[in-house]
Amino acid sequence: MYSGSWIELSRPALENNVRLIKSILGTETRFSSVIKGNAYGHGISEMLGQLQEMGVDHFSVFNSEEAWLVQQDLQPGHTLMIMGDVDGDALAWAIENGVEYFVFNLGRLENSIRLAARMGRRARIHLEMETGMNRTGLSEDELRHALELIQSNLEWVEVCGCCTHFAGAESIANYYRIKKQISRFKKRVEQCRSQGIGPGLRHTSCSAGILRYPRMNLDLARVGILQYGHWPNPETMIEFLTRRNEVNDPLQRVLSWKSRVMSVKEIRTGEFIGYGSSFQATAPMKVAVVPVGYAYGYSRSLSNHGHVLIRDMRAPVVGMVNMNAITVDITGLSLVGRGEEVILIGTGGENTVSVSSFGEMSKQLNYELLARLPHSIPRIVKK
Ligand SMILES: *Cc1c(COP(=O)(O)O)cnc(C)c1O
Repeated sequence: MYSGSWIELSRPALENNVRLIKSILGTETRFSSVIKGNAYGHGISEMLGQLQEMGVDHFSVFNSEEAWLVQQDLQPGHTLMIMGDVDGDALAWAIENGVEYFVFNLGRLENSIRLAARMGRRARIHLEMETGMNRTGLSEDELRHALELIQSNLEWVEVCGCCTHFAGAESIANYYRIKKQISRFKKRVEQCRSQGIGPGLRHTSCSAGILRYPRMNLDLARVGILQYGHWPNPETMIEFLTRRNEVNDPLQRVLSWKSRVMSVKEIRTGEFIGYGSSFQATAPMKVAVVPVGYAYGYSRSLSNHGHVLIRDMRAPVVGMVNMNAITVDITGLSLVGRGEEVILIGTGGENTVSVSSFGEMSKQLNYELLARLPHSIPRIVKK
């Protein structure tokens, strides 16, 4: 092992979460597994392999770079969909390989038709509607033009779906905004139907959407964070448990992040630890140095705040998080020596360092913390 830390992926946890998502969706709604952002830090290839073995056959990514990676290992007959950035050569590549993608402006539609005609293939598109998120999406006028364009180029484009994205389905504060989006989406779908196009698969919902607006599950749901074993926010978890009259979290975390003790040192009373004077020993102490720092995804805001688990016991971070290392207090843990396993995120015995506690301490969102875990950390699947 050459790396200072590694990420373990629990296959049973993933299986559990996929089963739960499928039970929430029922048989009418297809599950699209969202594996953008390096599969929310879990590792795109490692997650793809496992998910396909579990029978998942539809995948969503943000851009063509991610799509290219997925396409290398995608099983025949499985669907890959790009929800965001695909342009230039990548657009030609997508059409050539039957990769589906969102169309949210007329320029992309025109390019698609031109390229598809040149290649003698059909571009497989999803019409993304502007319904109120105001990020990407076709306005009512643009949709009308798009439908005309498609009508006269039916041999070069296939409308595989119609979709939109909710602007914050996880929070009840956005309820009226989402309701408006829902009614606009329905109108746009009717607009397609009345011009004899699509709608193909209708899809609007992310994780929070399937929890809060189940009637909008429709034909396909694009689910990310839930499959990794995390809730979009605490509100969605509490609502889900309350509605089902359950107390235990049915999700299981897929990811743990681990390292090991690089070095151990005895500290005398009155000495400061690390850079500056943010931590002073008020009694004789023993500290362990762990080779992860902010260069490797361990946030500097966890200085004197975070903790890790060693031998299932909590060991607080003392002093500043450095670029390459942290120091943790192991005064009570007499047997800990070099090479001892350290849990940065995960569970040991009765204790857990959760992504959300880590996130709260470092003021990062679940999503952000996971997605920022460096790509270079090895990912290991645990059966
Ligand atoms: C990221 C994303 C999703 C998945 O969101 P989760 O909250 O992780 O389920 C769905 N749709 C779009 C358009 C996205 O960008």
